[in-house]
Amino acid sequence: MPREEMKRPLIRGGRGDGSRQPETLSDLGTPVVGILGTGDFSRSLARRLVASGYQVVVGSRTPKRCAALFPEEAEVMSQMEAAGQADLIFVAVFPEHYSTLVDLKQALAGKTLVDVSNSVQLNRDGPANAEQLADLFPESCVVKGFNTISAWMLLMGPRDGSRQVLLCSDSSKAKALLSQLCRSMGFIPVDMGLLSASLDAENLPLYLFPSWHTPVVATLSLFLLFYIYNFVRDVLHPFVMSGKRVFHKLPIETVNVTLPSVALVILALVYLPGLLAAFLQLSRGTKYTRFPDWLDRWLIMRKQLGLCSFLCAALHAIYSLCLPMRRSARYSLLNDAFKQVKNEVENSWVDEEVWRMELYLSVGIVALGLLALLAVTSLPSVANSLNWREFSFIQSRLGYAALAMATLHTLLFGWRRAFNPANYHFYLPPTFVLVLVPCCAVLLGRLALALPCVALRLARIRRGWEKKQHIRFNLPENDGGGGCSLDDISQV
Ligand code: NAP
Repeated sequence: MPREEMKRPLIRGGRGDGSRQPETLSDLGTPVVGILGTGDFSRSLARRLVASGYQVVVGSRTPKRCAALFPEEAEVMSQMEAAGQADLIFVAVFPEHYSTLVDLKQALAGKTLVDVSNSVQLNRDGPANAEQLADLFPESCVVKGFNTISAWMLLMGPRDGSRQVLLCSDSSKAKALLSQLCRSMGFIPVDMGLLSASLDAENLPLYLFPSWHTPVVATLSLFLLFYIYNFVRDVLHPFVMSGKRVFHKLPIETVNVTLPSVALVILALVYLPGLLAAFLQLSRGTKYTRFPDWLDRWLIMRKQLGLCSFLCAALHAIYSLCLPMRRSARYSLLNDAFKQVKNEVENSWVDEEVWRMELYLSVGIVALGLLALLAVTSLPSVANSLNWREFSFIQSRLGYAALAMATLHTLLFGWRRAFNPANYHFYLPPTFVLVLVPCCAVLLGRLALALPCVALRLARIRRGWEKKQHIRFNLPENDGGGGCSLDDISQV
């Protein structure tokens, strides 16, 4: 290593005597960073900037009062002084107070202003806070950024929380400057485009699970529907017909019959839109006509629906494990035993029932395992480590395998009960019969798409073939005819 290099301190800004004295950024060719405002955000940002080796100047209306709140290395001064010294200035002031900064217009001309503000409520019509700041300071370059990073996250550092900083600006030079600053602080800059896109960036922290709204409402509605249905059949029916009070079933047994029904129907709803899209393309003979809006929206929410289905299935497994722990279960077991002793029944072993139960549990466990695998691979960090073929193999083939296993689990549960009129309380079929309808429909639809003639036509359509325009071409060798994989027909 050259001698000069050896002399240089390992930590930037550190001095030989151990005290921390950052180099002046203007000396290094990097701008002095200014912050207007001395609130929570400003204090955390100042600490992070100082820790990253920057020289920080903080502009306050009352510098003396606030100086003690900042690290020693940051200089707290008047707003005008800070605006004059820094080339890059964070405006850590609420947007309603922007107008009080207009006196700084001259001092801020030609400099980069970073608007970190968020709105109090969703603003769909604009203008964005950043655009308002740009209107107030037309001679400065405004960049929207850091609004999705909380003061706490800045304080803890980028290792704990989201590392992405969304940037919008009309000036690519200002954006590049801020990107560089982000990287040196350990954040990842994400270019969101022009300043007009800042409205989206400002609204982002205000959305409350936007993609989860419909899947959660659908899951809860189905739960309510099935719960009421099961209550009428299993609790109300014995009470009305024979005065038998079995209301104790409501917290666990009825919930446990409802959960798998919801899980299965939701799982069928994950795969149904893909089938509908495929059949629509087949009937239209082209892939270049847009799907109806409702189908587009349905296709987009499949991941959330799948996770809701997994949650219900997991809860069903836990509820089922807890069934024998209930006092009611122990009493009925004892009562059954007494009855058998009274009737002098020596052996209550029924081979068929034993096999049904063994298979029913085994298939259910496999279905839950597959659903867990689907849920794990839908996590962005896991999904990003898979290539497209691996991801579609898991989500499509294993997904259908999970649906088939869960359907088999339900069939084994139903066994011959579907054909016993005594199980049709108030003429209502058992829940598992209702649930099997969408599941079997989806599985049969999938089998229909796997027929070679259908699969080939669909594969052609997905490659750009159109019925009306008669664009003729042959699929590549490995894609043609029997080579058309099951993955190809489910990638909608
Ligand atoms: P805050 O604690 O209330 O601080 C606001 C600062 O603005 C005050 O300390 C004040 O400093 C300064 N200011 C300048 N002119 C003002 C005026 N006319 N009236 C009142 N205050 C004035 O707010 P904050 O939490 O730091 O948030 C500041 C900005 O950062 C907001 O736009 C917010 O949306 C954004 N933000 C905050 C967070 C967060 O986690 N807190 C996260 C993302 C974005 P002086 O009195 O020293 O001048």
